[in-house]
Amino acid sequence: MRALRRLLWGLGVLALVVGAFWLWVIWPPWQAGRARPSDARPASEAPVSVESAPPLVAAPALCVGSEAGPPGAAAANAASLSTLAWSPFGGPEMGWEIYAPRIAAEIGTSCAPGSDGFAAALARWQQANRLPRTGVMDAATFAVMLPRWHLARPFVRVNRDGLCPGAPLEADLATARPDESYGGKTIQLRPAALEAYRRMAAEARAAGVLGRPEALKIYSGFRAPDADAQRCARDQNCQGRVRTICSAHRTGLAVDLFIDAAPGFGPDSSVDANRLAMARSPLYRWMVWNAGRFGFVNYVYEPWHWEWTGEPMLPGTPIASLPQDGGGAVTEPAEGSTPRTPGAASGAHSRR
Ligand SMILES: [Zn+2]
Repeated sequence: MRALRRLLWGLGVLALVVGAFWLWVIWPPWQAGRARPSDARPASEAPVSVESAPPLVAAPALCVGSEAGPPGAAAANAASLSTLAWSPFGGPEMGWEIYAPRIAAEIGTSCAPGSDGFAAALARWQQANRLPRTGVMDAATFAVMLPRWHLARPFVRVNRDGLCPGAPLEADLATARPDESYGGKTIQLRPAALEAYRRMAAEARAAGVLGRPEALKIYSGFRAPDADAQRCARDQNCQGRVRTICSAHRTGLAVDLFIDAAPGFGPDSSVDANRLAMARSPLYRWMVWNAGRFGFVNYVYEPWHWEWTGEPMLPGTPIASLPQDGGGAVTEPAEGSTPRTPGAASGAHSRR
């Protein structure tokens, strides 16, 4: 009996030690602290000026013994996380859990969305941004965060000025290795973007967040503008204004990465259940805290779509001079067809 109790005691201590080590490995502040000098941009590379720096590299406070949020805020957030009825991107959505990792990074907390610590951090953020200090996540708060996230993407800033960046010559692109691409597709990127991707992938692997064999493989990189335009004409489906007029993938700096996928869905299906599966993955959470160190910024509606900011985009041409499909200015990246697992449900790109 005593031997059994001793054994159980020993196992308990072992589990604690292993758990503590695991936390130490994945906890964002430690990751940020272990950035290697090689991750810094070479001085010779002219970084794109970022008006509002992406809040991806701030170190969160440990969610232990944190201050209390406004009364009732934590409970309200815990409930609305899956029940908030709103339309943050035009179409109706239920709940805000898909965006919770990015919001947590924005407000600088590692506390869970329904916790007091999260409510306190959100209240602080709201106050700093001249919003009512409720500590409750709502559409008005999100509407202040979203333009900031959009404008952290140089591609969007150029679009906002009415320009579409130029496409590189294919001869100037580097090709990803077969083990870096998803579904055997040939993936091309501007060489420095591919190198940055490799550094990020190596750290993600070391951090233990690549749960699936496909994790972080690239399923779309450079897409030639004329190929996108041809597909638009051939399929008679340009998916509104964002699909093919000016895709971020024309820059050779944008990648679609396998983050995760709900059963039956492809890695770029924007069905909410699929995006939620991505948002819940350790990989996406790691990405929102760490990808910025490697120069990558995310389009928050699409957890898979990342743009590298380490080099300027090529000079642009006026969007008005490009073949139009009846829409206005482009503010979001367009996606094209991408390989999916056999039998996977088709991705819905209808709500942008
Ligand atoms: Zn994309």
